Amino acid sequence: MKTLTLKREALNQGSLLLVNTRHPLPGSVDPERLTPFNGTGVLLERRAALVLENLFHALGCGSSFLPVSGYRTLEEQKQIYASSLAEHGEAFTRKYVALPDCSEHQTGLAIDLALNREPVDFIRPWFPRDGICGRFREKMTSYGFVERYPEGKEGITGIAAEPWHFRYVGIPHAAIMERHGFCLEEYIDYLSLFPADGRHLEIEIQNKSFEIFYQKIGLKEPSVTLSLPSSLPFQVSGTNTGGFAVTLWR
Ligand SMILES: [Zn+2]
Repeated sequence: MKTLTLKREALNQGSLLLVNTRHPLPGSVDPERLTPFNGTGVLLERRAALVLENLFHALGCGSSFLPVSGYRTLEEQKQIYASSLAEHGEAFTRKYVALPDCSEHQTGLAIDLALNREPVDFIRPWFPRDGICGRFREKMTSYGFVERYPEGKEGITGIAAEPWHFRYVGIPHAAIMERHGFCLEEYIDYLSLFPADGRHLEIEIQNKSFEIFYQKIGLKEPSVTLSLPSSLPFQVSGTNTGGFAVTLWR
């Protein structure tokens, strides 16, 4: 066994961050963790950018899609919110634009994609379900991406269906979410049913076995320590909900 110490600050890092009105994520991302996506001016978190570039390459769809929006600073989110309010009014803005510090665009893990044809709607880009966009949707799960605001989940996510907004959550989480029909709020709730000191989630995805559990950290604890089998590869992600998701490759 090996011992791992997770610091409280790390709760705000990782591919499984949940960001919404109930779980704001103040602050901005260290610029070192960001990179221009596919040679464009759109910034993404490094891992998310690399994986999405690989997915574009696998689909041969480089010029078919236009990345409309990736990482946003707090200031940019404030501006988008204010200009949408001025242009489209409050009802529309509440439906489609997250409040400053409540937007997962501030994590660098989310991207809005448009089918590359004029005119491009920057708040509600056109990204249909057929053709090359359909092929993107079929493949994205195995690369760790999900459609973050699906139709039918508006009551849970608090955001209207956004078929153009994709979120990197990583492997195997995207596939588990798809299998159960979970949005991210539901998935993090589900993971919390598998605490470190209880029964872990054991699941097979694409012929690989995974073990996943949720490690809470007390409100006043600066860190938490856990033991992991030394022989297994693992990944830890903060969730922004008071705990970490720990994934072991079995
Ligand atoms: Zn978006």
